[in-house]
Amino acid sequence: MNEPVLLRPHHALCLHYFIGKGYGCGFVENMFHIKRFLCGRSLRTVVLHNGADCICAACPNRRNGGCMSSEKVARYDRECLKACGLAFGQAFPWPELCRRVRKAILEKPGVRAGICFDCLWKTLCQQQDVEKSVENV
Ligand code: SF4
Repeated sequence: MNEPVLLRPHHALCLHYFIGKGYGCGFVENMFHIKRFLCGRSLRTVVLHNGADCICAACPNRRNGGCMSSEKVARYDRECLKACGLAFGQAFPWPELCRRVRKAILEKPGVRAGICFDCLWKTLCQQQDVEKSVENV
């Protein structure tokens, strides 16, 4: 059965840049599992979700069903949706959501950095952007 996966919009960015680092072993394992699940052979449907999702489920920052950084991550979600012209509740096959995020955010210099400029993990994403731009020279 292909149950839709609820995903906070900004987690599409986190999944794109994920290289096995995160808030702890349980978090990293879960993130690997979700990435493998979404990118596997079966087409998965993702629903843009306003609140805690399958990635938050294994996060040590999750408190009482919410997030310790709730204001910040809610802003990331809103900015992601705005940049892509999307809304909470919309559902897409995972590759289609990736395509939209790539076109609206990842392929436009500075857009991703403008969304999550104050994220704890931003240097990991910056490094990958730099490596990619060097490869493309
Ligand atoms: S930091 Fe907050 S939004 Fe990010 S995975 Fe953890 S609980 Fe979810």
